[in-house]
Amino acid sequence: VQEKLDLLAKNSHNTVNSLLIDTALKLAKKVDDKIAKDEKIGLLEGIPFGIKDVYMVQGTVTTASSKLLKDYKSAYTATAIQKLLDAGAIPLVKENCDSFGHGSSSENTIFGAVKNANNPDLVGGGSSGGSAVNVALDYTVFSIGGDTGGSIRQPAGYNHVYGLKPTYGRISRYGLMAYASSTDCVGPIAKSVEDIRIVLNAMSGKDTKDQTTYASEHISEDSLSTSENIKTVGYFKNFIESEAIDDKVKTDFLSAIENIKAKGIEVKALDFFESNTLVSTYYTLAMAETASNLSRLDGTNYGNRIEAENLKETYAVTRSENFSEETKRRIVGGNQVLSQGFSDEIYLKGLALRDAISNNFEEDFKAVDVIISPVTPSTPPKIGDSLKDPLAMYLSDAYTVGFSLGQLPTLTIPQGTETGLQITAAKNNDELVLKFANFLK
Ligand code: GLN
Repeated sequence: VQEKLDLLAKNSHNTVNSLLIDTALKLAKKVDDKIAKDEKIGLLEGIPFGIKDVYMVQGTVTTASSKLLKDYKSAYTATAIQKLLDAGAIPLVKENCDSFGHGSSSENTIFGAVKNANNPDLVGGGSSGGSAVNVALDYTVFSIGGDTGGSIRQPAGYNHVYGLKPTYGRISRYGLMAYASSTDCVGPIAKSVEDIRIVLNAMSGKDTKDQTTYASEHISEDSLSTSENIKTVGYFKNFIESEAIDDKVKTDFLSAIENIKAKGIEVKALDFFESNTLVSTYYTLAMAETASNLSRLDGTNYGNRIEAENLKETYAVTRSENFSEETKRRIVGGNQVLSQGFSDEIYLKGLALRDAISNNFEEDFKAVDVIISPVTPSTPPKIGDSLKDPLAMYLSDAYTVGFSLGQLPTLTIPQGTETGLQITAAKNNDELVLKFANFLK
């Protein structure tokens, strides 16, 4: 714990906004005492971890990397985090990310851009960039990210580690600051399938404080050792034939397919929606939901209030001064698609497309056991580039957002292509995803 705290402290500009030193050392001491007395300790007991700064943890400031909440004190602890604390894991740090989860590069933050673990000139990915980089550099053993449209899987891919977005509802969202509630997921980033399995098990389960949660089965270590029930793997032809894909990503992915075939598994090409349709459907719904979710942040109950002449002005100035350009773009876009005269044309169409996408997945999973895909069409951009072209940044989410709309379990593994391979299964089949990842190891 001490060693990792030192590493984090030295690299604070890059990935960290506050270290939980006192709590961490106290907890570590307790575990040390138990070990000294030869007492039995649990699997997660004493394991140091990081937390994307969008989770409430009592006693910490939860900023969502935003100016508005830079001094906001958590009033309670998120269910998922509480479960890890109950299991004895040791929280070290709240991690830098794109403000409110808005972004794909971890540059939309008041704490400075997160740098890629393998090349500091490149972005760390987003929005859970700090979490992925901390795991990649061994500053934390695992980190808890948040994934609405790719924010765990894409930074995991950019930094060559594992990142799981579980089935929607498997882990409680209570205490996760809401971005787009219908696709927000809590998930782990770690260095092995086994670590992902352990942390997933610890956080899963029904929670009366989140009505979308459901009870799921514990995934055992043994169940991951056989690939018996994986016979057919699918991939989306149009992802690979798209002009947007880098040659290198494409070549690597095609050879990953050959490797899978060589292991005796049938690989089928599937038809799917065009990337532009996926990206526009996702951003229509995500912006609408975030505009609605962030309406509570007006300086009255939460955040740095800026007083003006009257209440209306106070709201306007507080929000204009404290939200980033990217967050404002999303609030304006979201309110537009929800407003009279536009909502039928745009928002309802988005909902209908989302249903069509989900139905397509249901049909696919009658024909194949898992679907594989590159995580992103291209490699991580240079720091600074994404800020210049938000549309290009949105389009870089082309391969992750569809699985979010389908609320499916999806895992990034650091192989297959330079930015990782994404493995997806039908709803509540998280075990199959981990099993296939283990098989490919
Ligand atoms: N990059 C996507 C977005 O900006 C996904 C972000 C996320 O999953 N939080 O919306």
